Amino acid sequence: MNTHLVWLRNDLRTHDNYALHAACRDSQANVIALFIDTPGQWKKHGMAPRQALFLWHSLQDVQDSLAQKGIALYQESADDFHAAVKKLVAFCKKHNVDRLFYNYQYEVNERDRDAQAECELGDADVEVQGFDDSVLFAPGSIQTGGQAMYKVFTPFSQAIIKRLHQELPTCVNAPTVRESAPITRKPLLKKFDYPCEEYDETVFPSGEQAAMERLRQFCRTSVTDYPKQRDIPAQDGTSRLSVYLALGVLSPRQCLHRVLAEHPRVLDGGAALVWLTEIIWREFYRHLLVAWPDLCKHRPFVNWTRNIRWQKNEHHLQAWREGKTGYPIVDAAMRQLKTLGWMHNRLRMISASFLVKDLMLDWRTGERHFIEHLIDGDLAANNGGWQWAASTGTDAAPYFRIFNPTTQSERFDASGDFIRRWVPELKDVPDKNIHAPHEWAKKNRQKLAYPAPIVEHKAARKQTLDAFEAAKNQQ
Ligand code: FAD
Repeated sequence: MNTHLVWLRNDLRTHDNYALHAACRDSQANVIALFIDTPGQWKKHGMAPRQALFLWHSLQDVQDSLAQKGIALYQESADDFHAAVKKLVAFCKKHNVDRLFYNYQYEVNERDRDAQAECELGDADVEVQGFDDSVLFAPGSIQTGGQAMYKVFTPFSQAIIKRLHQELPTCVNAPTVRESAPITRKPLLKKFDYPCEEYDETVFPSGEQAAMERLRQFCRTSVTDYPKQRDIPAQDGTSRLSVYLALGVLSPRQCLHRVLAEHPRVLDGGAALVWLTEIIWREFYRHLLVAWPDLCKHRPFVNWTRNIRWQKNEHHLQAWREGKTGYPIVDAAMRQLKTLGWMHNRLRMISASFLVKDLMLDWRTGERHFIEHLIDGDLAANNGGWQWAASTGTDAAPYFRIFNPTTQSERFDASGDFIRRWVPELKDVPDKNIHAPHEWAKKNRQKLAYPAPIVEHKAARKQTLDAFEAAKNQQ
């Protein structure tokens, strides 16, 4: 009997999993699965301990689901990717694997690892097949008229929608129960040798069923309000599916097909398309990683921005990390991140902009801090978001457009509900004053147990513009 191995990585699901589906196509084959944890690599990359625990829970969930289908999921541990390949090859030999199936990851180290694995498995006579699974379309397949990757999001998005009108990527079923190899005992899973931190399981219930249920609920009841609600952090107006998409507990095709099922004309426009466009942003950043692998090395996309002279100020950095900058919306955002391991998108934009454009600190410091805390940390989306905010990326915010944190706060948290939730020191400040509470406190001779602003926005803005212009002139 042939043995097919599915090497699971960031695709911890049984539904719509291209590699798993392909491995199960031959009903006679013995199908097994393997996950290799790589704590040394995670440490280097800075994976958040909450994400590590979510990953652990997702792994247990997928093991249960696979066992019900008659597929045993094994685990190996290796410190880094090089060692992981050695473990993989040894595992294939031990289990007489004929064919290996896996879904591509697009980060540069992961691609190097996979190239090495393909080479060594080839030498060991194992046939290897990879799949573009974590995207709607294969990176490189959506191109400009000049056969290049788009550098601007809107035409990329239009090209994707045009393509979707022509062909919808298929969503494949979960495997059916295999008769060939019933599982009598599940292989033992070992807790990772990596710090794992509890997260709020009522906000982020783990497992594939929970992910699919949330997707179903969101598409049925909330997606039509998305354009109105998505920028208001006090509202639960976004899907909160990022944690599942980041680890592949859910696929973007499942999102596409679910939204189509509820809103069959979604591709023609309307509220649901606004949400689908976010899935296309995710796609854009993944395609960019393949076209410009330097992004994985945290290099700026726009060359001249390498000349920017960032400041070094440990006190400012610490205040930002701790949510003690004296700018209530920034502080509320940073405390949400610290407590939940998640932050609303509007707040990611505001807090990232504040670090870069008000504190003039290197965007990579912020990028790293986010990855170290986000339960949905994802290199492509995080790097894309940070380079957007820092004006160093492709199709980024122009450097001279600088968010005013107070105006952003007035606009998106008008009555201060979100701020009060996370910055209780300000609970008694009136709604209209909560965005700049020290001005109110001074006028009303009140004492606030809340830090004064660590920088003055107008002056900081001027300093940033000067630094960007100086860097640009050095080209
Ligand atoms: P929804 O609004 O419901 O969107 C649906 C899905 O689309 C998301 O789950 C996500 O997969 C994708 N998506 C939405 N917005 C974006 C975007 N701007 N770029 C790429 N994909 C998007 N997202 C991550 O998944 N991981 C990260 O590490 C990450 N870091 C970010 C850092 C910064 C500085 C910024 C500005 C954005 C970052 N984002 C990141 C994108 C976005 O903030 C989150 O995906 C979103 O807030 C997740 O909430 P949701 O699932 O409710 O999103």
